[in-house]
Amino acid sequence: MNVHESEKIAGLLSARGFSSTDNAKDADIIVMNTCCVRETAETKVYGHLGRLKSIKKRGAVLIVCGCMTQRRDAAREMYDRCKFVDIIVGTFNQYMLGEYIDTFLATGKRILEIWDKADGGENNKAIRRDDGVNGWVNIMYGCNNFCTYCIVPYVRGRERCRAIGDIIDDVNALLDAGYKQVTLLGQNVNSYNFEGKTFPDLLKSLELNRKFRLKFTTSHPKDFSIELAERIADSKVLAHYLHLPVQAGNDRVLNAMNRHYTRAQYIDKINSVRSLVPDIGLSSDVMVGFPTETEEEFSDTLSLVEEIRYNNLFMFIYSKRSGTPAAEMEQLDYKTKQARIDRLIKTQFEISKEIAAEMVGKNYEVLVSEIKNGRAFGKAENDMAISFPSGTVQVGDFVQVKVTSARNSNLIGEVEV
Ligand code: SAH
Ligand code: SF4
Repeated sequence: MNVHESEKIAGLLSARGFSSTDNAKDADIIVMNTCCVRETAETKVYGHLGRLKSIKKRGAVLIVCGCMTQRRDAAREMYDRCKFVDIIVGTFNQYMLGEYIDTFLATGKRILEIWDKADGGENNKAIRRDDGVNGWVNIMYGCNNFCTYCIVPYVRGRERCRAIGDIIDDVNALLDAGYKQVTLLGQNVNSYNFEGKTFPDLLKSLELNRKFRLKFTTSHPKDFSIELAERIADSKVLAHYLHLPVQAGNDRVLNAMNRHYTRAQYIDKINSVRSLVPDIGLSSDVMVGFPTETEEEFSDTLSLVEEIRYNNLFMFIYSKRSGTPAAEMEQLDYKTKQARIDRLIKTQFEISKEIAAEMVGKNYEVLVSEIKNGRAFGKAENDMAISFPSGTVQVGDFVQVKVTSARNSNLIGEVEV
């Protein structure tokens, strides 16, 4: 999501005549787009700012925006501590960056402006995309779920859905421009609703008679429906891939997280998707060390991961975020959390390795995203990455690839002729 927001910021700057540079030393404008989902992301910001202070050229405008600076106290601290930062804005007024730059250049006065909520303005037009194959499209912003560990609803506001017609126009425009994959973005895409049109309705409208791959992220298990699984099964464009964050495998912990599903309900949903789409690739987010999580409760997470057998897992150590309910609960020590994540990583490593080994000898349609040193890289429909000798293949091609070997979870193949 933040990658796409950076594309939007770059778009606003391009529209004002700026071009990009790989070297911060040469930049007239430097924008740091921050994240505050976990503490580590926040602590890195000051280190980066210190480095930028020493290398940025005289007169360059330094801007900080994003989730971290949406938090008023964090933004104020940065404003006071880092006098060399010229403009600080939050998430809701990020689309106004161009205007803030004009004002700063005209007056030379530092700007600190944070809004409490969205005013309906969003930039969905001035976008400078980094990737020529995959295009991101926001279908909604914000989140209403308030999982007890998560800061997102506080810094992104309540759920707002974009008009279905605008989304369809954006997807068509991307395909016209040669994009081969579109990824729909939202914190909880399953609760998309625009004037009665639901997420499955939106997906149906995107069954365009064109060759492309459609993905979406993120689905919340409480809102994931059989109707959506059927949509994936019937679709000509949807990838056979589902990212369905489980977070934990124990019911008491799931309840304390305010996730609104049980382990059994989650497994049931996975089983029904698998029965409708047998070759579906699955991935998930899992958090360890949530406050009060016991050893036994953590082992329920391990056993769930072993039972589901995800292709890929995004694993996080719980990070305390002030202002969230979980920050008030009794915290676990760092050593315990670290030991748990090590065990989880080891477990998943073996599973990914086994899944990769099972793919050897089979054929997959791969969308080529990169060619380097005579090798092509891309993903199969189930989201597993495969590399193979590129030959005459071009970036953006869909090719049939036979997997010939697997090294850990790295798949190697060759083009089927
Ligand atoms: N809306 C999405 C993802 C939001 S953030 C969803 O609900 O799935 C992405 C992931 O970051 C979450 O799935 C969660 O696993 C992780 N995360 C969120 N808050 C966190 C925290 N305080 N500490 C550690 N990981 C966190
Ligand atoms: Fe955070 Fe939960 Fe919303 Fe995801 S669904 S963004 S984890 S509050």
